[in-house]
Amino acid sequence: MTETAYRIQGATGEWEVVIGLEVHAQVTSEAKLFSGAATAFGAEPNTQVSLVDAAMPGMLPVPNRECIRQAVRTGMAIEAKINKWSRFDRKNYFYADLPQGYQISQLYHPLVGEGAIEISLDDKNPDAVTKRIGIERIHVEQDAGKLMHDQHPTRSYVDLNRSGVALMEIVSKPDMRSPAEAGAYLSKLRTILRYVGSCDGNMDQGSMRADVNVSVRKPGEEFGTRTETKNVNSVRFVMAVVEHEANRQVDVLEAGGKIVQETRLYDPDRNETRSMRSKEDAHDYRYFPDPDLLPLELDDAFLEECRQSLPELPDAKRQRYEQDLGLSAYNAATLTADADTARWFEALLAEGARIQKKSESEVAKASANWLLSELYGALNRLGKSLESSPVGPEEGAELLALIADGTISGTIAKQVFEIMLETGDRAPKIVEEKGLKQTSDTGAIEAAVAKVLADNGDKVEQYKAGKEALFGFFVGQTMKAMQGKANPQVVNELIKKALG
Ligand code: ADP
Ligand code: MG
Repeated sequence: MTETAYRIQGATGEWEVVIGLEVHAQVTSEAKLFSGAATAFGAEPNTQVSLVDAAMPGMLPVPNRECIRQAVRTGMAIEAKINKWSRFDRKNYFYADLPQGYQISQLYHPLVGEGAIEISLDDKNPDAVTKRIGIERIHVEQDAGKLMHDQHPTRSYVDLNRSGVALMEIVSKPDMRSPAEAGAYLSKLRTILRYVGSCDGNMDQGSMRADVNVSVRKPGEEFGTRTETKNVNSVRFVMAVVEHEANRQVDVLEAGGKIVQETRLYDPDRNETRSMRSKEDAHDYRYFPDPDLLPLELDDAFLEECRQSLPELPDAKRQRYEQDLGLSAYNAATLTADADTARWFEALLAEGARIQKKSESEVAKASANWLLSELYGALNRLGKSLESSPVGPEEGAELLALIADGTISGTIAKQVFEIMLETGDRAPKIVEEKGLKQTSDTGAIEAAVAKVLADNGDKVEQYKAGKEALFGFFVGQTMKAMQGKANPQVVNELIKKALG
């Protein structure tokens, strides 16, 4: 670690911040944790509720194998210990969004034990500054329903669609020391979940939310008392909570006050946290093993299938892009930062490797550059994403093949791409119909060069007197005269020849 430590300067000296995150991630699954009801986002209220989810008397929960499988795969992706024996417990409390009167969770024997995630603190060069953040555990539990409140008239409604949906609670160790580290951890965790396919990571839809534990201490001293800010739903907000909460705690301590262990809420509009309840009035959840459920026992075949089904993970992919494909650290990191981008790039590369007569590394570099500059630029302008891109990997690869084999220049390729976006036509057709083929016709280029030099006699004099930078000007003028269609290499050679 070469990064400078994050410190808060107080009147009594410097303070260090200590952070641990508890992330709730909704498991990607068609059905709920203990019932067959659907889990689709945005459905009409109370249309995805089985008798189990509504806690009708006599209903029995049956664990959904797919939910367990996804949590196990997630555990494997963070190099965690998978517990072959785990058990569900009841966490008892009363609230209107919880018809059972208890949440089925895992307290004593979680499905997944200790693991770790490596975070990077330099986007441009991901291997430069890294840190391992420990993970305490991942347990599986049910989500609750959702309350909605009307002001006029004053009424409350409950939507049980979320009730019983499977969540993974991913608990980090108190290993983070700055807002940047907390943000990098949450982003990296989301990337991994999306690669694994165990959670869609859509924080704005509530599929992933973080409880942010923050304390402060003088460097080297014992951990201070922490507060926990609940249900923070974006990376940016998590960083803001850490920043705000750490500074608030320093102010309290420096004024001679004490931090009380409490639950707080974040208000993004005011960028501040507010106390919700203190530990003193915290619930006694009266946890006990759920008598309706047998312990979970995983066999080797199940674990093996989970392991086999894991995709190449982001760090491995990034390193492969750098080492085997020769991409820059920055491009490799950008392309692997989310699973969809990597998938798109690999489709572009596969198609390119099939139709271009170039080495894989050459195809990869050209594909990466085109995707990250030309395609991203166009998508930004059009307000679209890769998913809704009007040009697919196959069409992109065709365009790049035309540059690779010298049919068109990079400049003409930009024009062709614009036409592709506008018309939906494919590159070879556009080049053919608009007569955009690059020419190596020496006669035509020679004539153009002769005219450019004749029209710019003064510049030719200056060039010959030593102003060599003018060479580029002659190339530019010749290309312009050839409407961008001349082979640049031939243009260079012929200008050199003509200038003697
Ligand atoms: P509890 O069981 O009371 O919820 P845990 O030990 O499970 O407490 O910790 C919950 C979360 O709080 C974990 O993510 C952990 O890393 C974090 N945490 C624990 N102690 C501190 C501390 N002093 N400062 C900041 N975070 C902490
Ligand atoms: Mg906790």
